[in-house]
Amino acid sequence: MQGLEGKVAVVTGGAGGIGSALCRRFGAEGAAVAVFDIDHAAAEAVVAEIRAAGGAAGAFAVDLTDQDSVVAAVAAVEDNLGPVGILVNNAGWDRAGAFLDTDRALWERIVAVNLYGPLHMHHAVLKGMVERGEGRVVNIASDAARVGSSGEAVYAYCKGGLVAFSKTMARELAKQRITVNVVCPGPTDTALFRDFCGEGEYGDKLRNALVRSIPFGRLGRPEDLPGIVAFLSSDDAAFITGQVISVSGGLTMAG
Ligand code: NAD
Repeated sequence: MQGLEGKVAVVTGGAGGIGSALCRRFGAEGAAVAVFDIDHAAAEAVVAEIRAAGGAAGAFAVDLTDQDSVVAAVAAVEDNLGPVGILVNNAGWDRAGAFLDTDRALWERIVAVNLYGPLHMHHAVLKGMVERGEGRVVNIASDAARVGSSGEAVYAYCKGGLVAFSKTMARELAKQRITVNVVCPGPTDTALFRDFCGEGEYGDKLRNALVRSIPFGRLGRPEDLPGIVAFLSSDDAAFITGQVISVSGGLTMAG
């Protein structure tokens, strides 16, 4: 992919299922990868994998819900790896449940990770991109933002907000040649998805029903995401901004 080699790429939630696949791909493309995660040991393991494959990477412990923590981690990346050229806001969190059974403490946690996390990251990283007049942002939302998802009302509310925010940032930053795009995974086999489905007979039924609804007849895999994210971060996507793309085996076909 053109234009990734030598760039610094920050991936939030880089230790997770989809995030670690994104980090490995950026490493293989020759980018210096900053793995941002609250789970520092898991982030270090991803960094070790990238380095073992000949790539460059560093792990940065960060709680995305805490603006000071984000500002410190971004400063550490700039000191250690250099200016950030690519930002992928991938971290996310949810706890499934019917909206009327949930309470404000849960809403606040979901909003803190899925809405405030990306706000903190954009605010900390984009000033440098604006000064340099270049940058790529890819935000990982969800098909829940496009078509809704029972049991994920507040999460969908956040992801829908992330889509609207991304389109607005794409407009505000176009003059500085910074692109902002959104990738929406469908059901993808990671820890987050397994938590959503839960264990036992109910979990199996839900998983099977979801698989039946996907035209490709299978769940997404973390490896399904890096291609589009690398492309949107590359020179080839320099004139593409404000777009939303689903990676869900045909589950969501939006015009
Ligand atoms: P995951 O649970 O495997 O990984 C999420 C990562 O984010 C974890 O490593 C976790 O430690 C990190 N994280 C969570 N809260 C954090 C915080 N406060 N600070 C720093 N790091 C934090 O999840 P995943 O399935 O790989 O999800 C990646 C993205 O894809 C998320 O934005 C998710 O909403 C989205 N998504 C996933 C699915 C799916 O079915 N898996 C579907 C649609 C969208």
